[in-house]
Amino acid sequence: MFIDTHAHLNFPDFASDLPAVLERSRKQGVTRMIVVGAGKGMEGNPEAVELARGTPGIFATVGLHPHEAREFSPAALSELRALLQAPRVVAVGECGLDFYRNLSPRREQFRAFEAQLELALQTGRPVSIHCREAHPETLEVLKRARSGGLRGVIHCFSGGMPEAREYVELNFWLGITGAVTYPRSEKLRGVIREMGLSRLLLETDCPFLTPQPKRGTRNEPAYIPWVAEEIGRILSVPVEEVARVTTENANRLFKLEE
Ligand SMILES: [Zn+2]
Repeated sequence: MFIDTHAHLNFPDFASDLPAVLERSRKQGVTRMIVVGAGKGMEGNPEAVELARGTPGIFATVGLHPHEAREFSPAALSELRALLQAPRVVAVGECGLDFYRNLSPRREQFRAFEAQLELALQTGRPVSIHCREAHPETLEVLKRARSGGLRGVIHCFSGGMPEAREYVELNFWLGITGAVTYPRSEKLRGVIREMGLSRLLLETDCPFLTPQPKRGTRNEPAYIPWVAEEIGRILSVPVEEVARVTTENANRLFKLEE
């Protein structure tokens, strides 16, 4: 059994064939998925929550992506707080800092990020973090927030060993996507080699980051085994071991039930 801990199944890319996508995933042993509400403005959140409500094995997060930080407001924050009460809504996010695309001004990114960390702390939920070209700033914000028992995942981890160690020390897990299968991802494979399995989670980030064998086409949860196989290859452990430990990690971090 595998868990895809980061899937954008509410994106229009899946509008026409979601039941078939879910069926293929289950056939590959990907029986649980976490649908990320953030990524298409506030309107993506209720969609993710509805998917979780109506589909066994599906869980949701709610939040505002750093690209959308300018949409952040007190009203948005209360809406997120209310949505967190719905069944199988397990985390806040993805939220964070993106200084690569800078689609929202940095000041607004910080404001939305810090408010969502506060929301996660207040509601006792883990947080899913998007960090692109912003590791020093992200670490600084997390260190300020750590007192209250914050925990979460650095989604699509892209840093090196020093950052990986700091995140783990701050009670964070590292999300590994199909990017690990790309020829140029030697640094990420090096981090996995040193870290071992104990802090890793599997993610697709679908429809993006399709593993190498299908690169250039839409990604979907059924391709998670390729991510797991690559991790197994790097660590010289069987894929079953990768599946077992990453599933335990995901169940523990997100407290997935039923
Ligand atoms: Zn994402």
